[in-house]
Amino acid sequence: MLDDRPPVLDACIFCRIGRGEIPAKEAYRDAAVVAIEDLNPQAPTHLLVMPLQHYGTLGELAGSQNDALLFELLRVATALGRERGGNDGFRLVANTGPHGGQTVGHLHLHVLAGRPLAWPPG
Ligand code: 5GP
Ligand code: ZN
Repeated sequence: MLDDRPPVLDACIFCRIGRGEIPAKEAYRDAAVVAIEDLNPQAPTHLLVMPLQHYGTLGELAGSQNDALLFELLRVATALGRERGGNDGFRLVANTGPHGGQTVGHLHLHVLAGRPLAWPPG
């Protein structure tokens, strides 16, 4: 079940987007997860899939034993990637911590699609 969750944080921009206090273009929402268009898109499709409750990083959620939420996050991100990317595919990214390039401290998966993406990352 999706209980035992941490609170939503007033100071966190993605918590506030999840609560509808800051506007965002939503691509998907359910009881646990919301997907929004990235403000600064890096590809024709660039979505951010995040839990409504505040988890700082993927590791924090994975360590919380909230397996249902971890599953839901990945399920929604994958569904959106398949929907947007079609046969050409897509990429899921979880920037984590300073070396991972994370700039917003609320767990989110990037869903990128719509153009060929280079590898390795910079
Ligand atoms: P990170 O760098 O943490 O992996 O990703 C943060 C992402 O959030 C960036 O791609 C950035 O463009 C996006 N972002 C930051 N602030 C906002 C915002 O207020 N609204 C939306 N829709 N995206 C945001
Ligand atoms: Zn938050």
